[in-house]
Amino acid sequence: MPSTGCRLSQKRFELSETAVGTVAEPLGEAQEEAQAEPLNASQTEPSVVTLYGTADDSIVDGPGIRFAVFTQGCKHDCLGCHNPKAQPFEGGIPTTTDVLWQKVEANPLLAGITLTGGEPFEQAAALVELARRTREKGLTVWAYSGYRFENLLGGTPNEAAPRLLEQVDVLVDGLFVERLKSLELTWCGSSNQRLIDVPASLAAGRVVEWQQEKNIGQGR
Ligand code: SF4
Repeated sequence: MPSTGCRLSQKRFELSETAVGTVAEPLGEAQEEAQAEPLNASQTEPSVVTLYGTADDSIVDGPGIRFAVFTQGCKHDCLGCHNPKAQPFEGGIPTTTDVLWQKVEANPLLAGITLTGGEPFEQAAALVELARRTREKGLTVWAYSGYRFENLLGGTPNEAAPRLLEQVDVLVDGLFVERLKSLELTWCGSSNQRLIDVPASLAAGRVVEWQQEKNIGQGR
């Protein structure tokens, strides 16, 4: 699920499509150097992720300036999905997590990354290391999913989903429900969706809602 279900506007379509070209751009010298140490060199995780696109400096996918990764493919088929082109599992742009990481490293203004789509947890294994590196750098990871927190934790839609969840700071979960849509909501599109403080939830063993006032002050 994407920020889409949550708040994906026409403007964001344009952002994604522009970013498609960005992701496909050849790497510069500095990037080649960074590439010498692939993210997944010592891992068994796949490093290829299929994208709908990216937005280099999104301000609508969580607090601050964020590098938004729109994955290709989503099974949820929400009525009113604002990003239907990201639903098919066919197509999309294969890229590597190394290329995405270089984008993160190249922008000193980023507050973090946002994994959205499409359904990012369908490609959880390929995103784990990107998320881990992002947090290691002191940035935050937001993720949007049509799956509920409890389901992701239980291994839906795949065994890598809980591993990716562990690397997420804030999860916006749940399907986009058009009749519950509200423009008054911040960071999500329909009132059934939850903004979840993932580390606090994992520690407490129950869902803890993310509190904007408290966390923005702490840079989260
Ligand atoms: S979760 Fe729903 S709103 Fe989000 S991309 Fe999938 S179908 Fe669209």
